[in-house]
Amino acid sequence: MSRHHAWIGLGSNLDEPRLQVERALEALDRLPLTRRAAASRLYASRPVGPRDQPDFINAVACLETRLSPLALLDQLQALEQRHRRVRRHRWGPRTLDLDLLLFDDRRLASPRLTVPHPEMEQRAFVLVPLAELAPTLQLPDGRRVIELARELDDSGLRPVLPTA
Ligand code: ATP
Ligand code: MG
Ligand code: MG
Repeated sequence: MSRHHAWIGLGSNLDEPRLQVERALEALDRLPLTRRAAASRLYASRPVGPRDQPDFINAVACLETRLSPLALLDQLQALEQRHRRVRRHRWGPRTLDLDLLLFDDRRLASPRLTVPHPEMEQRAFVLVPLAELAPTLQLPDGRRVIELARELDDSGLRPVLPTA
């Protein structure tokens, strides 16, 4: 089984979001056949979609994994469940969201999984931490994450200190 690089976007805006994200970053390092190679700083961001909800805490992590993309998605969704995520409606508040942003330089499109994550290019809370973590990273089509990040309005985004 070969080793892959997977990039994960983390988000939380319920029940102590910073702790949710920090615990999830630790848990990602314990997934089967997987280790966490790197993680960005934590950022606070204004919610997308419904505005009447708390700010999000976001981060991005790079995993080295021998799991397949769908097996990794299974693990990410199980981890969301362990954080007692209640999925009320899309883009609504949640204790933990784990999105698979990139998997090597592959493109995947199935009912359960689209990679690259289709919204990532529009989201400063994804691209800014991603560019911080991997300044030379490119999308499968060759566009550089750092260039895409520069084009976005990042005024709603600010780094936050980790919990003590
Ligand atoms: P968004 O995808 O716009 O960030 P969301 O994260 O709130 O919205 P979820 O409720 O977490 O959406 O996921 C809805 C479905 O998206 C999941 O059941 C999952 O199968 C599917 N999905 C498709 N592509 C991906 C991906 N790259 N990463 C995570 N989930 C994905
Ligand atoms: Mg999401
Ligand atoms: Mg999601």
